Amino acid sequence: MNLKDYITDVVDFPEKGIIFRDISPLMQDGDAYRFAVNEIVEFAKDLGVDKVVGPEARGFMVGCPVAVGLGCGFAMARKKGKLPRETVEVDYGLEYGEATLQLHSDAVKPGEKVLICDDLLATGGTTLATVELIEKLGGEVVGLAFLIELMDLKGRDKIEKYTIKTLMEY
Ligand code: IMP
Repeated sequence: MNLKDYITDVVDFPEKGIIFRDISPLMQDGDAYRFAVNEIVEFAKDLGVDKVVGPEARGFMVGCPVAVGLGCGFAMARKKGKLPRETVEVDYGLEYGEATLQLHSDAVKPGEKVLICDDLLATGGTTLATVELIEKLGGEVVGLAFLIELMDLKGRDKIEKYTIKTLMEY
């Protein structure tokens, strides 16, 4: 299956000069969504994953079905102010601005092996913040998986010491 057939390029969104890779057609197609999730589950099944963490919001869409496929739990990394209980937090730079990401303090236990899932690797800022949150809690990042990698933005350079799986490259 060619997953790129299910990605729509949106020119000048959210700002002029940016090509937004819209993954929603992929998720709207049951076969393509299942295929993509299964590819990540296959990648991760021998990594000993205890927990999947995904940053909001599209990281939930990738990470939740992967966690179910692996038979482990899922934890949400969310923008500041959304999680109701005690959190740890990290400030980070985005492709289009700045933000703070939080994780519940009990989301990852010390020593747990964690897989991070998101829809897209751009500058790597979101991913690096997610890595830092997990490591603050004593978790071990054993893998990172994305549907799409934007090669020009070189996000991979920020996370090169980790094991990375991407399904599509642009
Ligand atoms: P980064 O932090 O620069 O790597 O940006 C990655 C985050 O921004 C991911 O959580 C994506 O959901 C989002 N993002 C950035 N560019 C795009 C895009 O072209 N399509 C979909 N999501 C994007």
